[in-house]
Amino acid sequence: SLRKMVQEQTKHVAICGGGLVGALNACYMAQRGYRVDVYEMRQDIRTQEIVRGRSINLALSCRGREALKGVGLEETIVKNGIPMHARMIHDRDGKRRPILYGTRDQYIMSVDRRLLNEVLLTEAEKYENVKLHFNHKLLTCNFDTGEMLFQNEKGDQVKASVDLVVGTDGAFSAVRKQMMKLSRFDYQQTYIPHGYMELNIPPSADNEFAMEANYLHIWPRNEFMMIALPNLDRSFTTTLFMPFDIFSSITDERQLMDFFTDKFPDSIPLLGQEALKKSFLSSKPLPMVTVKCEPYHVKDKAVIMGDAAHALVPFYGQGMNCGFEDCIVLNDILDQCGDDFAKALPEYTRIRNVDAKAISDLAMYNYVEMRSSVNSKLFLIRKKLDNLLYKLFPKTWVPLYTMVSFTRIRYHECISRREWQDKVLTHTLRTAAVLGGVSLLVSAHALYRHQGALEMPGWLQAGISLVEGWVRG
Ligand code: FAD
Repeated sequence: SLRKMVQEQTKHVAICGGGLVGALNACYMAQRGYRVDVYEMRQDIRTQEIVRGRSINLALSCRGREALKGVGLEETIVKNGIPMHARMIHDRDGKRRPILYGTRDQYIMSVDRRLLNEVLLTEAEKYENVKLHFNHKLLTCNFDTGEMLFQNEKGDQVKASVDLVVGTDGAFSAVRKQMMKLSRFDYQQTYIPHGYMELNIPPSADNEFAMEANYLHIWPRNEFMMIALPNLDRSFTTTLFMPFDIFSSITDERQLMDFFTDKFPDSIPLLGQEALKKSFLSSKPLPMVTVKCEPYHVKDKAVIMGDAAHALVPFYGQGMNCGFEDCIVLNDILDQCGDDFAKALPEYTRIRNVDAKAISDLAMYNYVEMRSSVNSKLFLIRKKLDNLLYKLFPKTWVPLYTMVSFTRIRYHECISRREWQDKVLTHTLRTAAVLGGVSLLVSAHALYRHQGALEMPGWLQAGISLVEGWVRG
């Protein structure tokens, strides 16, 4: 009966969605001693040969790694990832030039999505208080009673009743859909005009990487771009991001080859002409959506996390990292609130919402940086200046990309710190320009005086009286 009593007091949580964030969160909640049931719509990916879905590999950075560390998985994942120290820019004439992400010892990692999800599911299953239910699609849930309704693979309906519903069911979340029926729930969804298509650069004939391995390769072409991330099997998953109307204007082999010859000539031998034709013309570009909403919780009964709460465009490589960090943030808040959901969930919304909105805006901004700004001289000068100041003042001047990818500084603070840096730079440049102008005038004035006979030109006289007036008044 003691066991029964303990069981009755144990909090019972249902995690809807056994993707990346759901599987990680199951580990965190299991560590807290909750009884955890994970319901995943798909089959168990560990038993399938081919898994269809989104991007094959992902960039893992500091926030994601910290979250994996919390459940003892950082080492395993890092061991199976490939470090990327810099962007490798491919110019149209085939020239390649690296742009470091941070200092030489800072890097992001290319990891395999499927492997990551499998490792996380296997880890979750190790806890005896976690149970995984595959082929269970959430249909509805009741935020007053905690009752949930699923459909299994046979089409039968399955019921469950829990203390807390956690929605980690992705960008088209069913839990969120249910929340949208409640009053005062804000929701905003935007599709960008660009789609993406995945292509593949296989290993070279001698089974080596066909390009430098430890880079995130980018072909920035202003309006669109292609990127490539390395895989363990020495191939590169290559993703073309482009407006849908350009995708649809390419309908046959000739148009395709003309387009690639003009825009990405050095990639053709890497992708292989025949393979490129085959995969491009038989695939459809996929859309990208961004979702912002608020609040993330309903009373003490439900909370949404990961893409369900904040789908981002993928250009900062932060979607999963942010979703993983969600797990740490909620876990810390549950610690502070002594597992009282009524206190913890509103606090989670309060803390996390500003940060998720901030990274959502940054991700949108980075799309322009990746496809276009990296081509600009001014951008490269700013990057160099940022890195120099970072070396001189490592605590106060942390470049934006470094804050986002290599620290856990809150996302909204990354934005405010960057705004402060911009202000300091603008102010310094303005002051330098004024001082430069003044010393020019003073020198010119002295020169004319020295020559004596010459009449001073009007602009110099006007300039001198301006400076005099400024000094006096
Ligand atoms: P998902 O991974 O979508 O998982 C949701 C799970 O819920 C799925 O398993 C689904 O089957 C299940 N589900 C859905 N509906 C139901 C239901 N009704 N009932 C039960 N289960 C359900 N992020 C990075 O950090 N770095 C990157 O480099 C990066 N690159 C990206 C590139 C592209 C092209 C894209 C599209 C995204 C990229 N992301 C990246 C973002 C990243 O993929 C997502 O942020 C991450 O997958 C979110 O994880 P999640 O668990 O919240 O959602």
